[in-house]
Amino acid sequence: MPSTTSNSAPLSKRLFVFDFDWTLIDTDSDHWVFEHLSEELYQVQLDVVGKVQWTDLQQRLLGELYDRGVSKEDIERTLSQVPFAPEMIEALRLMKSHGAELYILSDANTVYIETALKAHNIDQLFTRIITNPAVFDERGRLNVVRYHGLDKEPHNCPLPCQPNICKGLEIQKLIDAQSWEQVVYMGDSTNDFCPSTRLQSKDVVLARRSLLLEKEIRENPQLIKANVIYWDNAKDVLKATQSILGSTSTVLTPPTFSKPSEPLSPVESSDLKARRAQAIRA
Ligand SMILES: [Mg+2]
Ligand SMILES: [Zn+2]
Repeated sequence: MPSTTSNSAPLSKRLFVFDFDWTLIDTDSDHWVFEHLSEELYQVQLDVVGKVQWTDLQQRLLGELYDRGVSKEDIERTLSQVPFAPEMIEALRLMKSHGAELYILSDANTVYIETALKAHNIDQLFTRIITNPAVFDERGRLNVVRYHGLDKEPHNCPLPCQPNICKGLEIQKLIDAQSWEQVVYMGDSTNDFCPSTRLQSKDVVLARRSLLLEKEIRENPQLIKANVIYWDNAKDVLKATQSILGSTSTVLTPPTFSKPSEPLSPVESSDLKARRAQAIRA
């Protein structure tokens, strides 16, 4: 629940929190790196999904990538080529220009996200990136560890969260830190459901259409209090952003987006890839 303060309340702002893979970008960064730098390790990644914890798997595969001679520069160059839709960047800039605070809450890692954001000159838009910590060692080998480490007690979230991060716990800390005018969470996958349940009736979930977050919401509607706006692509996100920022009251009319006056763009082929990438990670 939002905390109340007895002192003069700080100027209320909107809080926007984003998943990264298949939400801000139209790919999965963990796949992107291996897809472009080692077809063989990419295949290993696909083959062992579900058998090994995902962050631990990335750590092991990054060691093998280093052993094959792939350098820090190779990884950084590949990440700087991660696709970022212009309308998504426009939406982020619009949020920031309206005084909102922007956070990323992701199961990728700090190096992947920061490198991709810097390549598009949008890293300064975000207050903080909450994700698995990663760092290159002096040899240029990238190391990534779990955000919720093995040294901590398990988070024991009853919702479908991975052991290395419960996004619900993390967004709750952000929600409780300030008296927000409105909270918006944007995601696509199963692990985006838990943070979506933390939002209140004045808040908005921007759920990518036809993917696993939508499935969770439709199967467990009683757990969602916020307005849900479904989106297919960055153009939809930009329209939704304009609507959210333009609304002065806390009441939104999400049906505008469920039944747009102009037809939405055809489902992009990337959605098929998204479904495949999600299916193998779920
Ligand atoms: Mg995602
Ligand atoms: Zn959780």
